[in-house]
Amino acid sequence: MASQLLASTDLLNWRRHQLQRGGRAADLDWLLDLGAGVSRSVLQRLLLDPEGEETVPVQKSLSKLEKLWLRHLEYSQPLQHLVGVCPWRDLLLEVSHAALIPRQETEILVDLALAHAVKRPPRCWADLGTGSGAIAVSLCRAWPHSEGHAVDLSSGALSLAKRNLQALAPQHKCRIHRGSWWTPLRPSWGQIEMVISNPPYIPQPLMSGLDPVVRDHEPHIALVGGEDGLDAIRSLLADAPRALAPNGVLLLEHHYDQSERVRNLMLASGLVNVTAASDLEGVLRFALGQRDSRSVP
Ligand code: GLN
Repeated sequence: MASQLLASTDLLNWRRHQLQRGGRAADLDWLLDLGAGVSRSVLQRLLLDPEGEETVPVQKSLSKLEKLWLRHLEYSQPLQHLVGVCPWRDLLLEVSHAALIPRQETEILVDLALAHAVKRPPRCWADLGTGSGAIAVSLCRAWPHSEGHAVDLSSGALSLAKRNLQALAPQHKCRIHRGSWWTPLRPSWGQIEMVISNPPYIPQPLMSGLDPVVRDHEPHIALVGGEDGLDAIRSLLADAPRALAPNGVLLLEHHYDQSERVRNLMLASGLVNVTAASDLEGVLRFALGQRDSRSVP
């Protein structure tokens, strides 16, 4: 990307002008960082010395950046869609309209999986509803010798996941499957030792009240889990006790007020050692259950 050198005062004036139009400084600074290579630390330095005579390399013209910012302000387009990427864990993932923009809380879902398998990586794992492939890429990098499966119903999401796998885990051993939850993995049922899923879990009645950045631009198939938000989780749990390997673990993300219901659904499906884990704000957002080693499918 060709970069131009700008006087720091020009850049700061431009930034002030854009913020007068609206939006949040944190979002504009994110755009400067991801869209034009002006990192937070450089920007912070300029802000602390606004009269300084520094020149700064900027990888996109200010007029192009301004167009992106206006699309965000006028049409609530997610900044990640406007620049085509999203930083997540140690990755810079490609994102598109085909799948959810990976969220911060889902980084913890991966941490929980890694912590659970700290003694021994699973021989075989699956990411059900992979979307952009964020989880699958992370697991491929963490467990390079394990066999992985990434499943999604959306062919657009799978193309995106494939590109992310190729770019960020080029040696990966992850197969891509199109289909619903466990169905395309039927030949591997009984052998999958770790399954991770961030399924759609938002209750339908809440959709109209969501932030337009989410509601109007992200795929509803990846967000909405029916009337109570739990449809996808019920489907996942219906087959979990047969599809997991004995002692195999299922790790789910869910909405902020679903912990007790998800744990009860896990227990009712026959999973054991059911526990909950919280996000960085202390809200229980994850549930873990295990197939009983003695259970007969
Ligand atoms: N956490 C996401 C949101 O609130 C929803 C993710 C999901 O449904 N899996 O927008």
